[in-house]
Amino acid sequence: MTDLLSQAKEALAKIGKLQLGFYPTRVHKLRKISSDNNVNLYIKREDMSGVSLFGGNKIRKLQYLLKDAKEKGCDTVFTYGATQSNHVMQTSTAARTCGLTPVVWLGAIVEPREDDIRANMLLDKILGAEMHILKSVGSTSETMKANKDKFEARIKELEAAGHKVYDIPVGGSTPVGALGFVEAWIELFEQSREQGLNLDCVCCATGSTGTVAGLLAGRTLIENEQTALIGIQVGKKDPAVYKQSIIDLAQRTLELLGSDKKVNSENFKVYDEFYVPGYEIPSPEANNDIRYLARSEGIFTDPVYSGKAFHGMMELIRRKEIPEESNVLFIHTGGATALFSEKEIIGDLVR
Ligand SMILES: *Cc1c(COP(=O)(O)O)cnc(C)c1O
Repeated sequence: MTDLLSQAKEALAKIGKLQLGFYPTRVHKLRKISSDNNVNLYIKREDMSGVSLFGGNKIRKLQYLLKDAKEKGCDTVFTYGATQSNHVMQTSTAARTCGLTPVVWLGAIVEPREDDIRANMLLDKILGAEMHILKSVGSTSETMKANKDKFEARIKELEAAGHKVYDIPVGGSTPVGALGFVEAWIELFEQSREQGLNLDCVCCATGSTGTVAGLLAGRTLIENEQTALIGIQVGKKDPAVYKQSIIDLAQRTLELLGSDKKVNSENFKVYDEFYVPGYEIPSPEANNDIRYLARSEGIFTDPVYSGKAFHGMMELIRRKEIPEESNVLFIHTGGATALFSEKEIIGDLVR
């Protein structure tokens, strides 16, 4: 194991990254919820990753992505997401800290109000990101596919003016981005070993797949499949196709690291029943668990990602699909800025 661990770390170090956030992120126990539910529940605070107060899981990916951008001599980054995208906000923040200009393309799943710009969109404005709002034609990926010509035209203009653009797809979920979560798995393994903790299961939200794919690749590299990995979907996608897309991205990430290992997907599950009614549409049940976590432990999650994932994990615990007395860890991926977004997104939390 020690050998595998140092090999994995060496492979990551060889590729290299920028230091953008505050790592390692803290791991601590949720005492009240643990005793209420007869499990040992821990949380890893990717929501407190920095670089600003409004951190989250994308910073880890950006440490690798923006290193690549700098190495390629780029001075501008393009990225894409919903109007209230956490990924877009974190990319804008991280880009500014390394002297890159953010250009952001936002699909309006929830229509923003010109006279009342909120939450992540407001932060994008403060950061001075060049902002383009696109009419939504379905999922964010579908909206972006429908607007490819606009991106290409803007790249041409910028190139003509002497700029070089680095393109980061939705969620930063490329093999380069996923390296951040290979590193997170290794970090978590070392933290749990230091605390004498044998984790039975790790749960987190999954959207554009880079987070869970990176974790899965990291787990494969150091061969600790006895720790189950559970992804809770935040949007509608065929579960079998979706799961395979995670495995494929994990495989490409391993290849990027120069590993010849095949992704081990035993003890890896994806649940597609907790995002309902849909992406960026609040669920009263998830909102109940957002209140439960806040009122028990003082921790805020959001109605789009981390709250739905936390709710999904709690349901698995209540149903005993995650057995009593298990050592469970929830990765808090961030997103609480959504609590300050449009009413359509926060639902009955204002009650
Ligand atoms: C993006 C995001 C996720 C999902 O991560 P992916 O790598 O896109 O699967 C989870 N939680 C929050 C708060 C996010 O912003």
